[in-house]
Amino acid sequence: MKQATIGISDSKSFDLKQITSSVLNNSVVVFSTNYLPMARINIRRAVALLISGRAEPLDLQDTKLVWVLRSPSVAIEVPHHIRLKITTSERLWKLPSVSRRELLRRDGHRCQYCGSAKQLTIDHVIPRSKGGTHTWDNVAIACEACNHKKGDKYLSDTGMTLKTKPKAPMHPTVAFAEQFWQSRGDRE
Ligand SMILES: [Zn+2]
Repeated sequence: MKQATIGISDSKSFDLKQITSSVLNNSVVVFSTNYLPMARINIRRAVALLISGRAEPLDLQDTKLVWVLRSPSVAIEVPHHIRLKITTSERLWKLPSVSRRELLRRDGHRCQYCGSAKQLTIDHVIPRSKGGTHTWDNVAIACEACNHKKGDKYLSDTGMTLKTKPKAPMHPTVAFAEQFWQSRGDRE
């Protein structure tokens, strides 16, 4: 079987559908134009960005890390890190206002008192009747039973405890960057 390793730039006719390799389950880290790690995307998307010229290989510390995708006729090298060449995809991010949907996501669809995933409601940690605000640091997902049990009382008067301290969602780039550099630190 004849196989040639080709660069992305030579691969305009490359057909990803021919590839069934498990390599496709891996992911690639995308950096912004100003070298901030933004997201982890699957290899199909990375190849799409590279072939379309929206991104370029980014070689961190001269490591030359690549995933090799093989089809019956060719092999293609996909770098582990790529950098966007355009800035239009970097949208401005605003802190979302408190909503049930965002709150459920933040709290992992679990009651923050007992861990139940059923009959979830929004609890104000300091009750609204006692001046508690409808802000990220004062809301938590609670099941109906816990919300009822807590009632109109301060948390300290109930003997109940929160699994996590309520806080505002982190900027996605910041969150991702933190996680990314932590995981690199773990390996080296
Ligand atoms: Zn509960």
